[in-house]
Parts: sequence; C-alpha cells; structure tokens
Amino acid sequence: MISRAEVDKLLEMRAAGPTLLSLYVQVPLDPAGLRGLPAHAGELFALAARDSPGIPAAVRVGAADARAVRGLLASRARDWLGRTVAVFACAELGLAEAIPLPCQLQERAVLAARPHVRPLLAAIQRCPPYRVAVINRRHAWLFSIAGTEISTAVLPPAEGMRSHGFSGWYGLQAHRVNERVIQLARHHYQDTATLLDRAARASGAEPLVIGGHQDTIPQFLALLPPGLRDQFAGSFVADPDTLTPAKVRDLAGRVIQDWQNLQDQRMAEEFLREPPDGRTVTGLSACLAAAGKHAIHLLLVPAGGLVPGYACRRCGALSSTGDGCPHGAAESLAVPDLIEEVTVSVLGDGGQIETLLDPPGGIAARLRYALPLRATRLAWAGRAT
Ligand SMILES: [Zn+2]
Repeated sequence: MISRAEVDKLLEMRAAGPTLLSLYVQVPLDPAGLRGLPAHAGELFALAARDSPGIPAAVRVGAADARAVRGLLASRARDWLGRTVAVFACAELGLAEAIPLPCQLQERAVLAARPHVRPLLAAIQRCPPYRVAVINRRHAWLFSIAGTEISTAVLPPAEGMRSHGFSGWYGLQAHRVNERVIQLARHHYQDTATLLDRAARASGAEPLVIGGHQDTIPQFLALLPPGLRDQFAGSFVADPDTLTPAKVRDLAGRVIQDWQNLQDQRMAEEFLREPPDGRTVTGLSACLAAAGKHAIHLLLVPAGGLVPGYACRRCGALSSTGDGCPHGAAESLAVPDLIEEVTVSVLGDGGQIETLLDPPGGIAARLRYALPLRATRLAWAGRAT
C-alpha cells in the first residue's frame, strides 16, 4: 500500500532535465488482455512527448526507459490484474520502480525532472484502508481492507440460549426469554465494539463500515464508543450468512466511495462558506501567486487534468505564460503540469493537499494569511490573460 513516506522519497529524486517518466497504466482484468499491454504502454509514452517553446529539445521517452517499463510490465503485470500501476523510470538515475495502487485512476504518462505524484496523493487520500464489521446477533466478522488485500478475523460466537430453554415457554416466560436474547446480543455487540476499538487504537483510525441485517446495524452502532463512532463511514444491509470476503469488499467499497464523495462535498461547501477576508483564493493563477508567497495552508486540487506551464529557473515562480516574474521568458522552463508544481510547492511549505473531483474554481486554496491586495490583483490579472 502506497504511503506518504514513499511519495516523499520519490520527491527527493531529480533528473537534470525532463527525462524521468511517470506512467500510470491500467492493467487489464482479463489475463488474455496482457498481450496488448506493451502496445498500450507505447501509446501512453506518445502522450508524454512534448515539443513547445521553452523546451530545449524534443522531449521523448528514452529507449532504455521504454524497455525498463515493458520489462516490469511483462514480468509482474500478472500480479496486478485489474489494477492501476504507477511506474517510474529514469535510466539517468537508475530508477525503475512500479507501485500497484489501491484504486483505479486515470491513465497518464508524464516526462519531467521529478516523479509526477499527484495521482499517488489522490490514491492515498481517496482509497484509504478501512475496516468492516459484519455482525448478527451471535456472530461477528472483522475485515481489514487495503486495496485488493483483505484480512479477516472471525470472532468466537456469543453465548447463546440453550435450545431446550425455549421449549414450552410462553407468556411471561417467553417475554423473559426474549429479554435474555436481547441482553446476550447486547453483550455480543459490546464485545465486538471493544475489539474494534482495540484494533483502532493499535493500528490507527480508519473509516469503519458496518454490514448486517437492517435491525442489527443501528443496535450495534449505538454501542460504539464515541472515538469509533467518529470513524463510521456508512453501512450496508446483507445477510451475513451469504457473504464472502470478496462480496464484503464489493459492498463496503461502494460505501467508502459514497463517504468519500460526501467528504468532498462537505469540504467544498465549507470552503465556499469562508468569509471574504482575503484568506481564500480560487483559480489557478491566484493559487500560483499564493504558492509563490508560501502562503497556502490547504490546497484543493482536481483529480484529473494536466495544465502545462512554466517555472522560472532562478526564482521558481510558476505561470501559464512564462513571464510570471522579473526574470522573464528567457529563464522560463516548460513544465508538463502546473497543478503538480503547485502541489509539490505547497507540500514543501508544510501545507495540506486535498484531491477533490470538482474543487471550487477548478483549484482553490485557503491561505495562512491574507495576501496584500497587489499580489492578488496581479494574480487575477494573470488569470485574465
Ligand atoms: Zn524568476
């Protein structure tokens, strides 16, 4: 499972020019489709090629890197069926590394001086590992799911009523039996909640999904300790006796997706409710200007899209026109994606990145302090050009 530490390690790599290939490729689910994978990788390589002003020579995927990528895919794609894989290759740095991702992402190929990590950040944030508790009145199964990996723990069955206890009971006695059954179920829910709580304390908070019968879910949910309740992402209704781990992952995965979309929506709404005190900006030019002043505390970026632009070799200023700083176009270097550049810059400043499907204004930022009016005006003037 990809982690922030791995992203940070990748970000330390830097080639002398735009020769480092970052490829995000979808491996077919059907093994028969693997035959077409090398040709498909070739099509993606073509997308990474660039010829434009500010690029000293035509940028192409090098032959050695193309071989390295095809070699990695040929030897390991069988282990990655149905998954998106990130491949980083740069012969100059001796780099050839593949990372299978926990969810499917848009394919892309980028040649730059360092690894293109936006999709990795999106995968970490949008496809987190999560826990699932499937529960009925007597049994509980706990699942830890990370991408395609599932580990299962079956809890010992709860104490039950002895079956002969039911025979011939009626009226008040039947009522007492019923009370006892409810009480036993309650103990069982409490024991399961305690185990879940212990797991969350031991290995950290993760979104929690609950599966089971319609009436069981609220009863169990009501007994979760407050810390664990905060991690509750949603539930699915199913008969636990009919579930397999794969089915659990399928049902819970949809709950996690909905939960993630809701988080997106909340974050965007919260952002739009911010007072107009100059501490929020929307649009690429305003975000670039704010990043140049190291002012961004939180950056909301879109999951897809590449926006080519320029970075100043001397001061690092980012712009879509190459004249965003006093050093002028002569010092400008073409970069394949300004959103990636601003993302890495904000990470370097200790800021936070959130990937949203549709952030306000296409890209938006909350600032540490209000920018002087001049800087904002310049940024907006830049936006108009
Ligand atoms: Zn400059």
